[in-house]
Amino acid sequence: MMIDIGVNLSNPRFDNDRQQLLERARAAGVEKLILTGTSVSESDNVAQLCQIFEPQFPGMLFATAGIHPHDAKSWNSESIGRLRALAALPCVVALGEMGLDFNRNFSTPAAQEKAFEAQLELAVELELPVFLHERDASVRQLQILKNYRDHLVDGVSHCFTGSREALYGYLDLDLHIGITGWVCDDKRGEALQRLVADIPLQRLMVETDAPYLLPKNLPKENRQDHHEDRHKGHRENNRNEPAFLPWVISKIADHRNESAEQLTQQTTANATRFFRLEGPVPE
Ligand SMILES: [Zn+2]
Repeated sequence: MMIDIGVNLSNPRFDNDRQQLLERARAAGVEKLILTGTSVSESDNVAQLCQIFEPQFPGMLFATAGIHPHDAKSWNSESIGRLRALAALPCVVALGEMGLDFNRNFSTPAAQEKAFEAQLELAVELELPVFLHERDASVRQLQILKNYRDHLVDGVSHCFTGSREALYGYLDLDLHIGITGWVCDDKRGEALQRLVADIPLQRLMVETDAPYLLPKNLPKENRQDHHEDRHKGHRENNRNEPAFLPWVISKIADHRNESAEQLTQQTTANATRFFRLEGPVPE
């Protein structure tokens, strides 16, 4: 049994086959998905998807609620109240994604920091783990996290693709690391391939970040694009989905000299504990 901790299921590229996608995930052994909330409205959308599919796929879908740094400019006086309301839903198991992205600065760094800190404060108040996004901003992100870490229950740096210094910075703060199919790209992911063995097994979780980051090691005949092509009338031959998580796991396992079974078992245990997927832990 595998858990995909990062799925952008509200993405329009899934509009025509969400149910089949969930069936394929389940058939592949990916039995739980954490849907990523990236803005107040998207967090609302993914929480609704959890509710819509709960009768057919009981206990399979969970969600985060948060505001991605790209969307930090949308932060306003109502945002915190709306996130607090979303966090009260039983399917919402973490706050995020949240953090800093200085790669493209779709929102100003000042706006990003404001939204990030407000969400960290909410996570402290609600005692929820955080789903962290960071690109080209590890120094500042770690400084901010350090200020909150003592009061924060837990956090995962999702889709980690950073430097050794950044990795050890997150690990020093006793945070988790989420690895995507970025690691399956022998060119772009080469540095990450050399780093994955440094992540303690108890700190590691796996994700597809679907529909993004199709694993490069996926055999061509496994792709599902033909569905989409038919409906949309244009070629998109790189759509990722949760059923492809085993290719991410096998690539990580190769670079850690572990078996895929061992990695599956431990990352599933980590995600179950981190997101408290089996209900509140007894005192
Ligand atoms: Zn992200």
